[in-house]
Amino acid sequence: MKDATKIIKVTTVADPVSGAVNVPIQLSSTFNQPDFDQFGEFDYSRSGNPTRKAGEAAVAALEGGAHGFLFASGMAAIGSVLQIFSQGDHLLVSKFVYGGTFRLLEDVLSRFGITHTFVDPTDLSAIEAAIQPNTKAIYIETPSNPVLKVTDIAAVAQLAKAHGLLTIADNTFMSPLLQKPLALGADIVVHSATKFLAGHSDIIAGAAVTNDQALADRIYFMQNAFGATLGVTDTWLLLRGIKTLDVRMQRSSASALSIAAWLAKQPAVTRVCYPGLPEDPGYAIQQKQALSGGAVLSFDVGSEANARIVAETCQLPEFSVSLGGAESILSYPPKMSHAEMSPEERAKTGITPGLLRYSVGLEDPSDLITDLAQALAKCQ
Ligand SMILES: *Cc1c(COP(=O)(O)O)cnc(C)c1O
Repeated sequence: MKDATKIIKVTTVADPVSGAVNVPIQLSSTFNQPDFDQFGEFDYSRSGNPTRKAGEAAVAALEGGAHGFLFASGMAAIGSVLQIFSQGDHLLVSKFVYGGTFRLLEDVLSRFGITHTFVDPTDLSAIEAAIQPNTKAIYIETPSNPVLKVTDIAAVAQLAKAHGLLTIADNTFMSPLLQKPLALGADIVVHSATKFLAGHSDIIAGAAVTNDQALADRIYFMQNAFGATLGVTDTWLLLRGIKTLDVRMQRSSASALSIAAWLAKQPAVTRVCYPGLPEDPGYAIQQKQALSGGAVLSFDVGSEANARIVAETCQLPEFSVSLGGAESILSYPPKMSHAEMSPEERAKTGITPGLLRYSVGLEDPSDLITDLAQALAKCQ
């Protein structure tokens, strides 16, 4: 079955009681047990809930995984997954990870003795050289936020397997529609479902998916032990958002490609980061492992002063954090998603003072370009 069809099938989960084509929102924390000795499938909603189960099955199916888990946020998903590790374990982590993941590793997990080394995920020999006797996993995010660096998922997973390590991939930027890390050898996929999966800038949600029963048991244990589960109303909204994932991803990635190609020709723009452009260093790998360059791009206008001008004069995109909504979103990573990093750490990962990130929504791309043109014309 093609993804466009699968999306509709997995999000249209009929209620066996009423025949309603959409899964009911089961607002119940507890479930009556019909038998003194034998309990039913659900007992308490932190441990399991029918609405959440439908959402978890949908996300798992789209990632090509057997086991899905929904969390209260992307960070709850990432945090719960990383808590399957123990004191003394070491992780290799792409130096291009999301700011919140960076903060979790630096300021939380390290306090519990789960250590990490940041590596350049595009340099396989550097990753291999950084493996320690207690290394347990390689954590990647591709394309990365916000500079859209592409990591070869299959190559990293192969290296990880050769050393008995797990591969964990944050697939937020691509969504399962454009890239399927499990099929490329990753063991666990994590998502900020807040972004493209939900797709309407309305809810905060996270997901984790795996094909491995033993890993699923460990993730489920943490989901239940820590309890950062996704509520039922938000699960329902997530299922509704996913119904249009295919059309949204196609439309906004096509628009992102045309905007990136246009930006690359503008004298006010010193750098465009978009792996759908043939001149981008990540293009060949992106072509191999994903269906397109996605709907997010970054561009550098040379200075913080120019970034301010563009942010203040662009009329169409929302100037805000986040991405993956129906509306275009312009953000300034140094003050927003990556404010947690020091200027030195930002410089090391290409987050320059003139860098703006553009999450392309569903507006007509020619309007978005006209709007960008009037803003760039004001740059010095
Ligand atoms: C937003 C984001 C997260 C964090 O997800 P939340 O839903 O905000 O908790 C993690 N990874 C990436 C790549 C993101 O863009």
